[in-house]
Amino acid sequence: MGALKQYTLVLNFGYVESQRLSYMPWSSKAKFKDAKEALLDLANWLKERYLAENAAEPKKCCIKTKEKDPEAVYCSKCRRELAEPEFDGEEFSDWLRQLDTDIDSFHGLIEWDPNHRWQSDGLEGMPN
Ligand SMILES: [Zn+2]
Repeated sequence: MGALKQYTLVLNFGYVESQRLSYMPWSSKAKFKDAKEALLDLANWLKERYLAENAAEPKKCCIKTKEKDPEAVYCSKCRRELAEPEFDGEEFSDWLRQLDTDIDSFHGLIEWDPNHRWQSDGLEGMPN
């Protein structure tokens, strides 16, 4: 078994036919046994970030409405849908595409945190 390595993965967005060339380097602080493991971890990490920023915290009024009427579909106070939203793969890909089109401000999309196990700081001085 080889030594664990840090990886820098470059994500490429867009379709071949649209000839869009854009890339986004992601570097790991964590170490992985191979590139596949690193890529899977990056994908999961991006999904975690997406869910952390898009999953709605249940509000007090919504919890109350649900207690009063378990069948209720919308909150009687704030009108928010009460059903647990399912993971929406399409919205997730839209969100990923926004990372691409919005590269300058995308740290607004993913809050920058030096403790994150994946960083997008550019390619300079990165391993691999
Ligand atoms: Zn509510």
